[in-house]
Amino acid sequence: MTLLRSVLTIAILLACPRAICKSQVALAQSGTNAKATSSTVVDFVDTSFENASPLWYEFDSEGTLQLYLVYDHERSSPNRAAGHFHFKINGKPNAKVQLELNHLNNVWNGTAASVAQEMKSAVISEDGRAWTSVATNVSKDNRVTMQLMLPQSGELFVARVEPYRISDLDRLLVSIKNHALVKVDVIGKTHEGRPLEIVQIGKENAPHRVFLRARAHPWEAGGNWILEGLIARLLQDDPVANRCLEKYSVTVLPMANKDGVARGRTRFNMLGKDLNRNWDKPADPLLAPENGALEKWLESMIEQSRAPHLAIELHNDGNGKLHISRPPIPKLGQHVERMRVLESLLRRYTWFTEGSTDGAFRNSGTLGDGWLERYGIDSAVHEFNCHWIAGISERPLGKHWKHYGEQLVFVFEDYFDNVKP
Ligand SMILES: [Zn+2]
Repeated sequence: MTLLRSVLTIAILLACPRAICKSQVALAQSGTNAKATSSTVVDFVDTSFENASPLWYEFDSEGTLQLYLVYDHERSSPNRAAGHFHFKINGKPNAKVQLELNHLNNVWNGTAASVAQEMKSAVISEDGRAWTSVATNVSKDNRVTMQLMLPQSGELFVARVEPYRISDLDRLLVSIKNHALVKVDVIGKTHEGRPLEIVQIGKENAPHRVFLRARAHPWEAGGNWILEGLIARLLQDDPVANRCLEKYSVTVLPMANKDGVARGRTRFNMLGKDLNRNWDKPADPLLAPENGALEKWLESMIEQSRAPHLAIELHNDGNGKLHISRPPIPKLGQHVERMRVLESLLRRYTWFTEGSTDGAFRNSGTLGDGWLERYGIDSAVHEFNCHWIAGISERPLGKHWKHYGEQLVFVFEDYFDNVKP
């Protein structure tokens, strides 16, 4: 030991408490081999951008980045939901980051249940545009962790499913609005004043009409990717598209819960209403203006004898089933039979293999249940598994859902060839 080093060591021993001195000695001994943890390589978790999820974070004693999602709450109910995550890690280039997601115990129908088992995959991107899927680690006791490598830029976006933002919808609407077969109408506004667009594709006098709605629940971006694919295929101006548009038109409400999408929320609108509930009675225009506007549009279509013959409500969950609900209506058998036809056509033309809900299933108040019960429209909720597509053995990305949407043109064609509403 040199004289200088000896003097310094004695000075440290005299100046600091025992514990700190011990750690300083250990650090000095390990030198540059000191273990890098997330706490030493992460500078900031950025949630400043569109659709980013509200969260807070800290580093635990192991140096792991612990992320705490923020619940949104249902009105007049103990129910709450978190599960949307979309954030950007800023840190050292090429550094490894260990993170854990917390606050996954959603309360549904008054009972807390973890959504962890639905979080077996996530998506990452360096620029927020080109995404790849990655597997997460989900333990039996519902802890969700990830090990990620930051790119050379030191910036990495992380999300639950490939994001689809209001700006993505705006880009789509700009690209199609002047097409001769497209009509875009604003039917109302969200609670925060965002316009609610309805997009009609096809001919006014087409003999059959399909309606689809996406994004009642803001984290579930899959429905928007499906609509992108469906709309693009219908506007392809080739023999298939032209043949389909002779048989049916398609109308979509692409983003029902725009406020929630903008703010990175999980399930409810900004006033705590679930937009896929309460369809068993007239919508409350004050608490659920998004549903009030859609209901008004639907009733005006019914008055004009232009009601949809088939309505599909698009969602993501951890199962991916077609939800066939069974309200007490006179022609329930006919409805169930038609939904069986739909299910068989989904299996034939798309990668759908997840199946449908069983004979006792009813989910009262969903759009699928309510439109059938109140208006006699054949309607269903279609879930899409957010972490695994069994039919192609892939973790889902936007491109898989887009392809599904493209194939729906054949499903609807065959459906109306077989079902005469
Ligand atoms: Zn949903």
